[in-house]
Amino acid sequence: MIYRKQNGYDAFKCIADKCPKSCCVGWQIMIDAESIERYKNADGDFCARLNGSINFEESCFKQNNTRCAMLNDSGLCDLHSTLGEDMLCYTCKMFPRHVEEFQDIREYSLSLSCPEFTRMILEPDYEFAFTESEDETLDDPEEFEDYDFLLFDKLEYARDKMLGLAASKTISLQDRMSLIAAMGLKLQRLYDEGLIFDMDDVNFDEEFDCAGTGAILSLDYCTKNMDVLLDMEVLEESWHDSIRSAQTFWNDNSSDFVTWKSAMYPDADTEFIFEKIFESLLFTYFCGAVYDGQIYARTMIAVQSTRWLMMLHAADKNTPLEQVIYLYSREVEHSDLNVNALIEFFECEL
Ligand code: SF4
Repeated sequence: MIYRKQNGYDAFKCIADKCPKSCCVGWQIMIDAESIERYKNADGDFCARLNGSINFEESCFKQNNTRCAMLNDSGLCDLHSTLGEDMLCYTCKMFPRHVEEFQDIREYSLSLSCPEFTRMILEPDYEFAFTESEDETLDDPEEFEDYDFLLFDKLEYARDKMLGLAASKTISLQDRMSLIAAMGLKLQRLYDEGLIFDMDDVNFDEEFDCAGTGAILSLDYCTKNMDVLLDMEVLEESWHDSIRSAQTFWNDNSSDFVTWKSAMYPDADTEFIFEKIFESLLFTYFCGAVYDGQIYARTMIAVQSTRWLMMLHAADKNTPLEQVIYLYSREVEHSDLNVNALIEFFECEL
């Protein structure tokens, strides 16, 4: 088995009650079958409190006013502090760690929806990278039906090229993202035509025809298409207010080229932050195209999310960038429905 781990994966430590947006608030926490069994059989004084906090029919923790029933008034998890980390369910033990499974490869990343990880990624000395290791003694690879090894090989190769360009500082990040989006579109067209072997030859081509797609940076496209974010399921209604107010800001400034340029072509330090966000998203989403063939849409999730984050940040200087990032990720990334809505949205451009 090959393991790839994003920088910071092993070093990450939850800040628990210091967290400004705990993952135990807002989300329904599903419990895996093995943990349900352990909770049912737990004994001691704590057992009644634990079992009273679980909805066994739906295999999830109950909530008190959107807070996990295990979370106490001090913002600490009673299950964690009473029974220890080993008794946490898979979801709680893992978060904000995320695993993508590709036959005999596991890719581990960290979710931007966690404020502590967002803080880490904003540190100037944090660089996006991943390590690779191999261990034949661990985990038997799960067999994925109809797994397309050839396609995965082409996607991995393309993603390496994309990440290489994303990290190069020869041109602005915005121009790097446009070239990568065009590359995603070109790969998609080859895939759709069944020309998978030709995918290795795709490079960054400024001349490639991307008319009518979001690969081309445009204020009008980016503002209007924030509507897709308004159509998604929402955790907090205030998120929709933030999107609407960003749209208003950009509609009011639609002819202010200076404001647009400073948002989309930020200073070097801010650009580096967005570069790391973009690389993390590309790493997490791109190779999932082996399962759905959505090469362009998955490239655009990384490109357009980064562009929207730049716009949201410029439209609301009172909210720290860190907060803008984790709120976006909480709302958009942590719902399969929302991620699928984005995929469908970009697929419609083809
Ligand atoms: S969001 Fe991150 S830092 Fe906050 S409680 Fe969850 S894991 Fe800990």
